[in-house]
Amino acid sequence: MTTLLLFGRDLRLADNPALSAAVARGAPVIPVYLHDPQEAGAWAPGAASLWWLHHSLDSLAHSLMRAGSRLILRKGAALREIPRLVKETGADAVFWNRRYEPWAVTRGADLKAALGHAGVEARSFNAGLLHEPQNLKTKAGKPYAVFTPFWKTLRASLILEAALPAPKKIPAPDAFPMSDALAAWKLLPHTAWDGGFKTAWTPGEAGGGQRLADFVSADVLGYSDCRNFPGRTGTSRLSPHLHFGEIGPRQVWRAAVGQGVAATGEPMPRGVEVFLSEIAWREFSYHLLFHFPELPSAPLRKNFAAFPWRNDAAGLEAWQKGKTGFPIVDAGMRELWHTGWMHNRVRMIVASFLIKNLLLPWQDGEAWFWDTLVDADLASNAASWQWVAGCGADAAPYFRIFNPVTQGKTYDPDGAYVRRWIPEIAKLPDDRLHEPWAATPMELADAGLRLGIDYPAPIVDHAAARQRALAALGEIKGG
Ligand code: FAD
Repeated sequence: MTTLLLFGRDLRLADNPALSAAVARGAPVIPVYLHDPQEAGAWAPGAASLWWLHHSLDSLAHSLMRAGSRLILRKGAALREIPRLVKETGADAVFWNRRYEPWAVTRGADLKAALGHAGVEARSFNAGLLHEPQNLKTKAGKPYAVFTPFWKTLRASLILEAALPAPKKIPAPDAFPMSDALAAWKLLPHTAWDGGFKTAWTPGEAGGGQRLADFVSADVLGYSDCRNFPGRTGTSRLSPHLHFGEIGPRQVWRAAVGQGVAATGEPMPRGVEVFLSEIAWREFSYHLLFHFPELPSAPLRKNFAAFPWRNDAAGLEAWQKGKTGFPIVDAGMRELWHTGWMHNRVRMIVASFLIKNLLLPWQDGEAWFWDTLVDADLASNAASWQWVAGCGADAAPYFRIFNPVTQGKTYDPDGAYVRRWIPEIAKLPDDRLHEPWAATPMELADAGLRLGIDYPAPIVDHAAARQRALAALGEIKGG
């Protein structure tokens, strides 16, 4: 007997149900990671995601080695490679944790059928979500399209079993099959783009565990007060670790609730409560993707298909490069480029700017995020872009158009965030920092800033852009 254990977006040993079941089976286990960038079609992992994947696989391989095992790397389509590996190793069982991208759902079902036909035991588990997306339904038996009732049902039906410990020893076969070398996959960028990633992140299970421990001990109780201020460390930054399954939502949930109880004696202090609801937004995004597989490409509100988007390559490039002339927008886009991550409040601001100020399709922003975010996630990225655009489930109304100056002044009041990412305007006084064009010639001279030369003049007039967006919305109303 031999068990093939397929890793996917569950790159961890602790609280990993497929791994625990494979070890419990008592037979030698062969851990495999199969890389097939083509299987996801248009949604093959972006460059930042591949950077993370490289380091996460490296870390997983080391953890497996410490448990007396090895990570076998193979490239190719699952339906061809897995049966091939089964033959090669004589495996009689294949276990894995499920993924929920539409292509992965199809692949999982096809693989189960093919292995079943060949008389191989095929079992899949849930390591990545609190609930299977198909299990939560409204009273009418429909998928949820509104967050609050979804959250209430999720909460009420959540049963958290005890965490599964990481196996200390994973039974090894007499001989492991051949493995590709990780370096041969060339997942890392060709340029030195990742310098900032290296200082910002520690991919892997240990890095994710440390991040969780730091967050719950220092920040979770103050989360509700601090989470909207990008200049402070108020959020967990767990998103890439969660995306790659280096840590699971159950582990995060248990740690946050445990800290709340330990610190206050109450089960749910407000900070913990709000934090858990954000974990639930992740679940909601997966629920939407599962039930509406067109989510990444087509608006859920059908009338938006006729929206009169503009075509403006220069505007898109200014947004991507952080050169729009609106400091909070540019700071966010530069944080993204340098670290592969952006604070949630700023993601909302930059997304609103692209969609409503520049009137560019939300899919353009979604694609840029897909390539540059280390936490790029098909469900959360698509659901969030549709949410900001006003065309998704439970979305922000389209007519709510963020004013980037007001947003900057409210959420970066001392300018710590903007000054960090846009040093060329750092010497402006606080009250001009979010609107450099309002500075007097004297203030500009004192700050050593030549507007339009050292830092761009705004590429749109916010008030005019707002009117243009509202007029465009009028064209599709009732459609
Ligand atoms: P925390 O505030 O500490 O939240 C804890 C966890 O909850 C996060 O790690 C994340 O897994 C989840 N979460 C928090 N907010 C949301 C949310 N609004 N929707 C879904 N899950 C959430 N998140 C991604 O993980 N991948 C993406 O590709 C992604 N794209 C986004 C695009 C746009 C336009 C917007 C507005 C948001 C996007 N988000 C995405 C959601 C959110 O911005 C990030 O999850 C969050 O900023 C990650 O930082 P954190 O781990 O410190 O979050």
